[in-house]
Amino acid sequence: MTGQVAVVTGGSRGIGRAAAIGAAKLGYKVVVGYASNEAAAREVVSQIEASNGKAIAVKCDVGIEADIVNLFKAADGFGKLGALVNNAGVVDKTTRVDEMSAERLVRMMNINIVGSILCAREAVKRMSTKHGGPGGVIVNLSSVAATLGSPGLYVDYAASKGAIDTFTVGLAREVSDEGIRVNAIRPGLIDTDIHASGGEPGRAQKLAHTIPMKRVGTADEVANAVVWLMSDEASYVTGTIFDVSGGR
Ligand code: NAP
Repeated sequence: MTGQVAVVTGGSRGIGRAAAIGAAKLGYKVVVGYASNEAAAREVVSQIEASNGKAIAVKCDVGIEADIVNLFKAADGFGKLGALVNNAGVVDKTTRVDEMSAERLVRMMNINIVGSILCAREAVKRMSTKHGGPGGVIVNLSSVAATLGSPGLYVDYAASKGAIDTFTVGLAREVSDEGIRVNAIRPGLIDTDIHASGGEPGRAQKLAHTIPMKRVGTADEVANAVVWLMSDEASYVTGTIFDVSGGR
C-alpha cells in the first residue's frame, strides 16, 4: 500500500482514529477527516508522523456535499487514492419511533447514509479502472444494530446501518470487475465517545454483561479488521459484512 492515499472520514476519534493509525502502519498516506474537533485530528496526524508515516487533517462534515468534494480534492493533492474508510457516523438520544422528529431522521440519514454514499461516489470516480484509476478498497462502518434493530433505543440509527449493509453488497457487485473491493464491518458495543454523544456515557460498560464475551470491544479491535480488509491479504474478499462484536 506504500504511498497510496487512504481517506478516513471521522478519523479524529474512536474507531476512525484507530483505523487511520492502522492504515498508516500498512503504508498508506492518510487523510484524517474530522467534523469539528481539529485538535483531535491534529493529534492523530502527529502520532502518524511520529512513526514516520504521512497524514493530513481535513475538515469534512459528511452531511455537507461540498465538504466531501473538498475532502477528496485535498486527497488528490496528497497522492493517488487507494482506499476509503467510510467511518463517520452518528447516533442520537435514545427514544422510541413514536417520539422521533423528521429533523432528527433527516440528520441521521443524511450523515450515516447519504454521506457514506457520496464519499463512495468520489472514491469510485478516482479508483475505478473504468475511469482510468488503479482500483482500490472501500470499507464501510455498519453496526450490529442493523441486525438487532435497537428497539426503544434508536431504531433510526439501526435502519441507517441496515442501509449501509445493502449499499455495501450492491456497490461491491457494481464495481467488482473495476478493481475495487467493498466490504463492511459491523462493530458491536465498542468503548468510544459515541455513547456519550447519544446521551449515555456509560452505556457500553453497563451493557457489557449482555455480550457473549462479557466485555465491550476496543476501537483497535475494530480497526484491526478494517485494516485487514484494506490490505492485499483480503484480495479475494468483497461484498462481505464482517461482525466484530464479541459474539453479540
Ligand atoms: P465517535 O467516537 O463518536 O467518533 C466519531 C468520529 O466521527 C469523530 O472523528 C467525529 O469527528 C466524526 N464525525 C461525527 N459526525 C461527523 C460528521 N457529520 N461528519 C464527519 N465526521 C463526523 O464514533 P465511533 O464510536 O468511533 O464510531 C465510528 C463508526 O462506527 C460510526 O459509523 C458508528 O456508527 C460505528 N459504530 C460504532 C459502535 C460503537 O459502539 N462505538 C458500534 C457500531 C458501529 P470530530 O472528532 O470532529 O467530532
